[in-house]
Amino acid sequence: MPTARQYIIQFANLPLGRHEFVFQVNDSFFANFENSEIRKGDFKVEVGLQKQAIMLVMTFKIKGKAMVECDRCGDECELKIEGEQSLIVKLDGGVEEEGDEIVMLSSSASELEISPFIYEFIILSLPLKRMHTGKKGKNACNAEVIRKLEEIAVHTEKQEDPRWNDLKNIKLS
Ligand SMILES: [Zn+2]
Repeated sequence: MPTARQYIIQFANLPLGRHEFVFQVNDSFFANFENSEIRKGDFKVEVGLQKQAIMLVMTFKIKGKAMVECDRCGDECELKIEGEQSLIVKLDGGVEEEGDEIVMLSSSASELEISPFIYEFIILSLPLKRMHTGKKGKNACNAEVIRKLEEIAVHTEKQEDPRWNDLKNIKLS
C-alpha cells in the first residue's frame, strides 16, 4: 500500500492540548485498499487530537458519501455516511496490548499514519443494509434486475408444497 504523506500527523512538536486537522478522502484513497467494499467515495474527515504527556486522544468525525454495491440489485448505489469514532494512541512505548481502539507507539515516534484508521472508521460507519433508497430516478434500484428477481420469487411460490393448495381448497369449500 503506497503511503500518502497527506495522511500523516506530525505530533512530536505539537504543544500539549487540543488540535484539529481536516482531511479529504476521495476515490484514489480507496484505490489504495485492496478488496475495498467502497470503490468510490468522497469524505471530509475532521480529526480532533488532544495531546497529553503520554497519549493522544483522537476523534474522527466522518461525513461524506460512498458508492457501494446494492444488497438488492447489485448495482452501485450512493450512500450518505456520517460517523464518529475515537482512538487512543499511547506514546509510552509500554507493554503491547493493542485493542480495537488503542494503538501503541514507541516513545521515540513523532508521527502517525492515519489513513488505515480513516479507512477502518469509514467502513465501520457503513450501514448494515446497503441499498438504493429512491423509488424513481437516479438513486433507485436497477428495475430490470428487480423485475427478474420478482419473476423468480413468483416462480418459486408456484412450486410450493402442493398440500398448501389442498388446504386452500378446503377453506373455499
Ligand atoms: Zn439497488
